[in-house]
Amino acid sequence: MNRGALYAFTVRMTVLASGSRGNATVVAAGGTAVLVDAGLSCREILRRMAATGEDPAHLNAILITHEHLDHVAGLSVLARKLKIPVFFTEATHRAWVRMLTPQKRMSYKAWLEKMQREREAMEAGVEPLPSEADPATEEAPQKVCPTALPALEFFQAGRSFRIGDLEVNPFTIPHDAADPCGFVFHAPGESIRMAIATDLGYVPPNVKLALKNVDVLLLESNHDLEMLKDGPYPWSVKQRVLSRVGHLSNAAAAEFLMRDYDGCAHTIVLGHLSECNNLPELARLAAEQAIGDRMSLLGNRVLLAQQDVALEPIRL
Ligand SMILES: [Zn+2]
Ligand SMILES: [Zn+2]
Repeated sequence: MNRGALYAFTVRMTVLASGSRGNATVVAAGGTAVLVDAGLSCREILRRMAATGEDPAHLNAILITHEHLDHVAGLSVLARKLKIPVFFTEATHRAWVRMLTPQKRMSYKAWLEKMQREREAMEAGVEPLPSEADPATEEAPQKVCPTALPALEFFQAGRSFRIGDLEVNPFTIPHDAADPCGFVFHAPGESIRMAIATDLGYVPPNVKLALKNVDVLLLESNHDLEMLKDGPYPWSVKQRVLSRVGHLSNAAAAEFLMRDYDGCAHTIVLGHLSECNNLPELARLAAEQAIGDRMSLLGNRVLLAQQDVALEPIRL
């Protein structure tokens, strides 16, 4: 059933946090709401959802862009608390599991089988028994496995999929993670499209294409080039940030907005701003200059996502 028209007022994006200390954004349309990334503690995500009027009980799923800590810090705890599925690409999931269980000598296949057993036990309402040959439970049988999730779903970049009333189009982004993705969301029956594109070293053709015709765009504007060059980071980190698999500078975001952006957005949110290599005013100025005349004509208002405070929901 298409519930789009009925729930038209619920089309929204709520940026709970954006930056190198944590990312999380609620996207909702039709009767469906998802959380993109869970990079704050579970408690802080729930606190910010409450502050913005988002009801955690209405979240249908969590989607993960990539396995860096600022996108997954509260993931397991939140997913288990809300008992909702988590969507990853398989490579991102694998990297996340490795990151959290580096000492384990379990193969990925064995891990998936173990999780399946645990899920089945959970559904049957019995506590899974630690098996003797199970290295994950050998050392600390009392502790919940940090990678245990209530349900796990895989998606592939370039292949759209549905979560309830939301259609999700994941696209590959250039970033130094296993299989990083951005997302475009839209509710069939609605014409409104919302996109998230942060953590990318540059804007390749597939991203330019994905960001056509979007109404709300969360776009990275990570650093000011001069501030980064003169700033406190060691040279190796500066190189990483500046590389084609690092983060998008104000200038690169502005170039995209000037040359490739089609001017369709009601709102552009600049996100993942560096706290020591950027200033909100610099990011805003670069974007507004790039958008130029199109600002007043078609909406195109520019907001700045913040690290420590959630933005008011952007409603359409
Ligand atoms: Zn990040
Ligand atoms: Zn990242």
